[in-house]
Amino acid sequence: MPFKSLGLSDNLINKLSQNNYKKPYPIQEQAIPHILNNKDIMGIAKTGSGKTAAYILPVIQKLEDSELEKSRNINTLILVPTRELAMQVKEVFDAFNTSSNNIKAMAVYGGVSINPQMKGMYGTNLLIATPGRLIELIENNALSVSSLKTLVIDEADKMLELGFKEEIDKIFTLLPKKRQNMLFSATLSDKIEDINNIILNYPIVIKIEEDSQELEHIEQLAYYVTDEKKGPLLRHLIKTENMTQVLIFVASGYKCDNISFKLSKHGIEARAIHGKKSQGARNAALEDFKAGRIQALVSTDLLARGIDIELLPHIINFDLPRSPKDYIHRIGRTGRANNTGKAISFVSPEDEHHFKIIQKKAGKPVPRIYEENIKELNK
Ligand code: AMP
Repeated sequence: MPFKSLGLSDNLINKLSQNNYKKPYPIQEQAIPHILNNKDIMGIAKTGSGKTAAYILPVIQKLEDSELEKSRNINTLILVPTRELAMQVKEVFDAFNTSSNNIKAMAVYGGVSINPQMKGMYGTNLLIATPGRLIELIENNALSVSSLKTLVIDEADKMLELGFKEEIDKIFTLLPKKRQNMLFSATLSDKIEDINNIILNYPIVIKIEEDSQELEHIEQLAYYVTDEKKGPLLRHLIKTENMTQVLIFVASGYKCDNISFKLSKHGIEARAIHGKKSQGARNAALEDFKAGRIQALVSTDLLARGIDIELLPHIINFDLPRSPKDYIHRIGRTGRANNTGKAISFVSPEDEHHFKIIQKKAGKPVPRIYEENIKELNK
């Protein structure tokens, strides 16, 4: 089923093709028409299923169709458990929104100064927030959720795991009764059911199963290194393994720019590609990379799916992906069409547990090399 038949506007259809989203993932196919139809949704889907676009696309469309007010009243609230997810959801929004529609979106989270967030809040229509910071902002009268139209709770299970239950309950008491609700969670538990019972009205329940992929032709390798050694290791590998075409995955757009800048400074032709770059810059970077004019392309997951390059010999996970499914997708960029490829992951001490889970899901233990055994890093 094409995106067009889900009821999305021409603006969004254009943006989808610019972002190389060729056809909807199951969660998008199943959720988008109901969301556009004002139904409540409960999506049981993991990161990697395409759940962010499943709610962001109809949310943008609904905002485009609303009379937007310039005030401190938020129209749409997306609650997320972590700063990383807040930034990532904002990146997805930026990738699909057209600046001409005047929707103002902001991502707010703790751990950074609250003042710029308070100042920037006026006129915000779509707010992506972690629960604690949202409450602080409300208590400072920076915004109001009393006339909210749409609520999205993303990664509800993680939210509970991190102990946000009290904050969430408090936020619920501030919301108007009539609104549209969407709740996404990777798992279903009694506690999630409790939230479901409080906020959702006869929701449409969508459950997405994971799929797996053959990884036979891909040689996988993991380097266990500290964060400070990742940069030197990257340059060392590109040089000593004569990598002429390597796709490097990192966690954020900011890091993309930073790493590509540092590689270039060390004489390795590199370019960054992420959601904040203009379409023209992204296309040019991708073309140059495909044609072999640049050696390294540094990317976030946001654009990784669209990158279709035959015979890509090397990919490097400078930062691990958030889900095993993303890992499989990332390393699936190499070793295509029966060609062998090499996928290297950098595993920092705090990522070791996460990498264990990834390996379990990917079905194969990955050989490892430890920092202390890499002579060049210990000079
Ligand atoms: P999510 O589960 O929302 O974190 O999305 C996982 C990844 O899938 C992200 O890298 C998205 O950019 C990508 N993605 C989501 N939907 C599509 C689609 N229909 N076509 C291609 N890539 C997609």
